[in-house]
Amino acid sequence: MKLPEGRTRIISGSDLFDSLPDEIVIFILCKLAATASSPLDFVTVLLTCKRLNTLGVNRLVLSNAGPETLAVSAKNWCDEAHRFLKLCIHAGNKEALYILGMILFYCLQNRGSGASLMAKAGIKLHTPALYSLALIQFNGSGGMKNDKDLPAGVALCERAAFLGHVDALRELGHCLQDGYGVPKKVEEGRYLIRQANVRELASILCTFDATPFSSVSPPSIACEFHSDQQRPDLTDSYERESPCPPISSLRLLNRYWSNVPKERSHPANRFLVEWFNLRSGGIPGPGLRMCSNERCGRPETRKNEFRKCSGCGKVNYCSRGCQAYDWRLHHKVECAPIDD
Ligand SMILES: [Zn+2]
Ligand SMILES: [Zn+2]
Repeated sequence: MKLPEGRTRIISGSDLFDSLPDEIVIFILCKLAATASSPLDFVTVLLTCKRLNTLGVNRLVLSNAGPETLAVSAKNWCDEAHRFLKLCIHAGNKEALYILGMILFYCLQNRGSGASLMAKAGIKLHTPALYSLALIQFNGSGGMKNDKDLPAGVALCERAAFLGHVDALRELGHCLQDGYGVPKKVEEGRYLIRQANVRELASILCTFDATPFSSVSPPSIACEFHSDQQRPDLTDSYERESPCPPISSLRLLNRYWSNVPKERSHPANRFLVEWFNLRSGGIPGPGLRMCSNERCGRPETRKNEFRKCSGCGKVNYCSRGCQAYDWRLHHKVECAPIDD
């Protein structure tokens, strides 16, 4: 029988897939591991046949696994999930280093191993790992208040900011502006904060560009007052200085923010949020609080570790980045002076 054009007859007892060299199958699996939208998407393919199962755990494939392929869920956390992340770490995957590092440090309270894995990811220039390590140093997480190492936090922030991490750039700007862990350079600090706002605005405009108009409501003008309202400082560790003066980029950023479809947070943050919601209803321990940015998931490791909003004193954040994010998303309409 004549086959349609482009079709090849499958010879009985053999198969086109069997005739593909391992290198090509591994190449395809690398692409899949890098772009899968969940661990299930990847694992389902591996369960198809023995050959895919074997080649799927090839070192090259595991080293290419992207953050969403490694996004294990807190609900399904088990020895197998732990082993899978370790397998990826042994293959040289820096995302797996960071995700398991965050889980060990914050959820399983294995601070030493968690920080060590994050440090290894940082050495491989993984920017969220560098930024997370900076926050651990700024807050003295896992230790006492005296264990804060501000210059180390600044150095880590500097590295992450240089590699393009916007929250690290903002944090560094505030450190310079306030003389926090670094000699005070107000103008330089304000310049970096403006840079962080401009970069964030640019990424928002890119999102607008890539999003069909029908799915985005027009920028709101009804909440003009709140949009331009000045974000209060954080109290405790930072000096109370007059914040950066209003600038057009910040005003634009605030105005457009609520209409922008939010990107998913990093799988490590999603794991933390889910973990503490499932196990303790959002309370990480007696007298301890979660970061008020609902997408962060970092818990306090000792009482009063996080700084609170100086405007209302009702919310607390692990970092300036989380405060800035939550301010735009929720807190600007909720924040009221303590006296009120
Ligand atoms: Zn936070
Ligand atoms: Zn407030």
